[in-house]
Amino acid sequence: MKSTPSGSTFRPPEPGHRQRVAGVDPPDPARLALHTVTTKPWDLETAIEKYAAAGVGGISVWRETIADRDRADRTAAGRRIRDAGLTPVSLVRGGFFASADVEERERALEDNRIALTEAVDLRLPAIVLVCGADPNQPLETSREQIAEALVELAPEARDAGVSLLVEPLHPMYSDTRSAVPSLAAANEICRTVDDDAVGVALDVYHLWWEPGLEEQIRLCGTGGRLRAFHVCDWKIPTTDPLLDRGVMGEGCIDIPAVRRAVERAGFTGFIEVEIFSDVYWRGDQEAYLDRIIGAYRDYV
Ligand code: ZN
Repeated sequence: MKSTPSGSTFRPPEPGHRQRVAGVDPPDPARLALHTVTTKPWDLETAIEKYAAAGVGGISVWRETIADRDRADRTAAGRRIRDAGLTPVSLVRGGFFASADVEERERALEDNRIALTEAVDLRLPAIVLVCGADPNQPLETSREQIAEALVELAPEARDAGVSLLVEPLHPMYSDTRSAVPSLAAANEICRTVDDDAVGVALDVYHLWWEPGLEEQIRLCGTGGRLRAFHVCDWKIPTTDPLLDRGVMGEGCIDIPAVRRAVERAGFTGFIEVEIFSDVYWRGDQEAYLDRIIGAYRDYV
């Protein structure tokens, strides 16, 4: 049991001992997808091979994983994904639309256009967006710029057959990463943009704290906008704001409750494990993958 600075205590459940939320059965193993960043030490080819061998159903590709690959290489990588029996889920990540500098905003649009071609080459049907924030301007201004960028890119995304998914980020990232700190804010941006090419990626790490989350999930689903579901856990204490995410079951997020809400809202897609962790990246990746698969069964 670890003490938090406030003196309250938290005891993660022993594996397999957490009570399942009533009415929430373990998820279908075929719906498990992994983000390549989760097993960052592996290159794309290794990740494809290991995920497929472990029975993982889908893969979301981080742009870092395909850096310096040309169109032919990306197309070949997309084919390798499909030949291995994995379903391509999303490209991670685009966005960073908000800036007080107009030239920066133009550069961001161009970079997102490149991301669209990358998604097409890999046959990934969606791009996850970290929408951006600039501490030199009000958050409201950043949100307006995000909506403007989405309005501009949406027709191009539709032509490419790729969804643009706004991923709300925890408010601790509102300084430079995202002016969209909640599902309520993401739903509002989707209403403003009002284009079928634009949806939402819901990550439990970013939204578990949000009051009224279940109702916002329902609203998101009603509009057909809920198109991605990311899981990991919030460790107590969390020692790094970026690189100390936990494996499901290791922290305090009631993931089955969020999954129930997401599925009631009509979501039937992949459940994507996305974990940034210096701790796990230092360890044996095969053992880590085994642990993730067990945690998916027990804590999602
Ligand atoms: Zn995410």
